[in-house]
Amino acid sequence: MALITKAPRGTQDVLPSQSHNNRFLENTLLEIADEFGFKEIRTPVFEHTELFTRSVGDTTDVVQKEMYTFLDKGERSITLRPEGTAGAARAFLEHGLYNEPLPQKVCYLTSCYRYEKPQAGRLREFHQFGVECFGTPAPAADAEVISLAYEIFGFLGVEDIHLEINSIGCPECRKNYHAALKSYFESKKGDLCPTCLERLDKNPMRILDCKSPICSEIAAEAPVVIDYLCEDCADHFKKVQAYLDEMLIPYSINPQIVRGLDYYTRTVFEFVSDSIGAQGTVCGGGRYDGLIEELGGSHTPSLGFGMGIERLMLLLEAQGIKLPEPKRCDLYIAPIGDNASLKAARLVQELRQSGVSAQFDVVGRSVKAQMKFANKLGAKFTVVLGDDDIAANKVNVKNMDSGEVTEMALDEFSEEFMELTLQQSALDLESAVANGENIDLKSFLGGLM
Ligand code: ATP
Ligand code: MG
Repeated sequence: MALITKAPRGTQDVLPSQSHNNRFLENTLLEIADEFGFKEIRTPVFEHTELFTRSVGDTTDVVQKEMYTFLDKGERSITLRPEGTAGAARAFLEHGLYNEPLPQKVCYLTSCYRYEKPQAGRLREFHQFGVECFGTPAPAADAEVISLAYEIFGFLGVEDIHLEINSIGCPECRKNYHAALKSYFESKKGDLCPTCLERLDKNPMRILDCKSPICSEIAAEAPVVIDYLCEDCADHFKKVQAYLDEMLIPYSINPQIVRGLDYYTRTVFEFVSDSIGAQGTVCGGGRYDGLIEELGGSHTPSLGFGMGIERLMLLLEAQGIKLPEPKRCDLYIAPIGDNASLKAARLVQELRQSGVSAQFDVVGRSVKAQMKFANKLGAKFTVVLGDDDIAANKVNVKNMDSGEVTEMALDEFSEEFMELTLQQSALDLESAVANGENIDLKSFLGGLM
């Protein structure tokens, strides 16, 4: 296929037949976050490269291998964001949000860019729903952030997902740990990949996150950070668990989790599923108590998570979870002839202003072809409008599901049709409830208003 009709590798189009699912998911995520007090923040797609090398860390896979970095026409090094935390943290500092009451709780839906090997659940342009809670060291905040992700999976009816937590300590307790790791990896030096050899001196913890099979095998036997926690970090981790227990959130401790970004401290966690293959981590997050300071702010303990939208979608599909159907076309008007077409245009306009999803023929098809089209649209009602109907001031409204026909006066059509569709919506809701469908109540209520 010619290059111009093929999207770049690792990117995905969301077509009209699919996009209502994304929209539903996005609205749901933002609404649940809002209930938890997280307000939406929007930051640029690109930032100064240094923001990411400083925050994500220059020995991570993300910075070493995966960033989309280029010089702009002013010779500035610019990077397409590989994740959402750095931009949110930058905005927190730039706009003095630290002067607002703390914690500042923000959330976002963003596209992210990583030059990775594309495969199921791993794209070069992907989307993240993320939350950040700036300005609290308390274990209660860790539990709240985790409980938000837990609530999202629960609300969507996802069953096969489990929470794994770990603590990777603070820079203080990590000194001893790094020494232990270094001496362990020194003894395996001959087998490490070239990237990990480089990491050995600078940041041995990164070797634990290496995806190469041999390094992973070596890493599996390495000392675990949880055995090296200082008293404060151990106490913090215990308290996080006490909150999760109290909130009845099931979890397991996985001492192998270190996460792929350098800014993490103390609590790290992942929500993992076995039903979507190798890329099973749908949500990952943790504390980053030193990040704001690293970026030039004052000490501001904080935390957050990122949830991959595409992986979440894969998970919903794998589990056969049905999202609400897209809104159907309420009414299709099929005019016969030029005069009726003018009238139809006017009627559709009026109905749309009242919130009815109405359409009419804009192609110039025969009535038969129009009805076929209305069927394909899934229109709930249709009207065939001819000159004689206009003269007689009447229209026949056909219910496409039941075949029932209702006669209405043309000059009162808007009001009468509104009434009819309200009755129908109430019936639809009743049967949806009876069938136990996942109902988008907000959009249903929106339809009534
Ligand atoms: P992985 O170990 O799978 O590479 P990661 O540790 O790099 O994940 P994070 O940086 O923590 O992932 O990003 C948070 C979430 O974003 C992941 O849990 C995942 O759901 C999603 N994600 C990360 N990278 C990709 C990608 N290339 N394609 C699709 N989703 C992704
Ligand atoms: Mg990764």
